[in-house]
Amino acid sequence: MVKQFTYKIYNKPKNKHLHRLVNLHACLYNHCIALHKRYYRLTGKHLNQYMLMRHITKLKQREGFAWIGGLGSQSVQDVIQRIERGYALFFRERKKGNRRIQPPTFRKARTYRSFTLKQAGWKLVADNIIRIDGRTHKFALSRPMEGQIKTVTIKRDAVGDFWVCFACDVGDAAPALVTTGNTGGMDFGLKTFLTFDDGSAIQSPEFFKQGSRAIGAANRSLSRKKIGSKNRSKAHKALARVHRTIAHKRDDWQWKLARKIAEQYDEVWIEDLNLTGMKARWGRKVSDIAFGSFVMKLDYVLRSNGKTLSKRNRYFASSQTHFACGYVNSELTLADREWVCPQCGETVQRDVNAAQMIKHGRAMSWGGDGISRALPAAIVDPQESPSL
Ligand SMILES: [Zn+2]
Repeated sequence: MVKQFTYKIYNKPKNKHLHRLVNLHACLYNHCIALHKRYYRLTGKHLNQYMLMRHITKLKQREGFAWIGGLGSQSVQDVIQRIERGYALFFRERKKGNRRIQPPTFRKARTYRSFTLKQAGWKLVADNIIRIDGRTHKFALSRPMEGQIKTVTIKRDAVGDFWVCFACDVGDAAPALVTTGNTGGMDFGLKTFLTFDDGSAIQSPEFFKQGSRAIGAANRSLSRKKIGSKNRSKAHKALARVHRTIAHKRDDWQWKLARKIAEQYDEVWIEDLNLTGMKARWGRKVSDIAFGSFVMKLDYVLRSNGKTLSKRNRYFASSQTHFACGYVNSELTLADREWVCPQCGETVQRDVNAAQMIKHGRAMSWGGDGISRALPAAIVDPQESPSL
């Protein structure tokens, strides 16, 4: 299993060399994009990545392109592979009829983020010092690294700070969490982040709200600054820093929550969320709360402990159906938190009912003998449902 270890590189004047390296990779990236476009224009075909690699290797000898030689062949290869992955995704989605995914395109050097090295081009001089391109950079070793280093990525964030990211092979670690035999169903919401089928709930933390206020203030400050001024670029940085702080808080909170859920359950059922649809209905708030990134973390934590996350098709997870008796309340709106079931007279908590439906995928109907008789189950193979 591959585990990521990310550490912050200390801010030093010599980081300007890292800036230069990222910018040069951006140059190379744009050069390759231009070659792709020209090749397609001339031949009507996709430029093969191995052909492109051979071309770039020859290009190094030409005048004006010597700088490519300074980047190291593996990180050059990585740039070409990134573009290739972008095209592969584009072709795959196009085939499925999805026309929203665009092929990779030109990027501004200023917003270009990272480059990746494999075995060569870097060296760990000490536990917390890495040498890149002949210069040493110290980073904050916030937690010990494990396993064997496969790749090293240097990342520049929107604030302009640098991070070093080690992808390490940690082998097949034995599951750390004990099995509990519990299966749970969860429903996502805006106010209440998670509702479980047993009625317990996790509220959205207050810092989401505080964060959006801070972003608003930083945005207003930015808009008051003159375009192209030094103050404007400072305000830009301040805004990026606010975004970064919130993202870090959110990630921390989500990892801890995912871990807590994995300690309680062996199998977790969630609704197969349609994020684009949710964004259209609820707006920016959905991306603030970032269900998608939470689902990814939860899946990772569960899987690495030998547990599973399963997704229920939205049709069967309908919150309009009363779990206990199967009555369908077609007049239910988003505002109704609670409703009384006309068929069995029970008061239904909307979110808890939804979580129960997600867990079982069907309503229970009760026979006269008091033994529960399940309606035909509609189990969705988690492999088949599209991932987030
Ligand atoms: Zn009912």
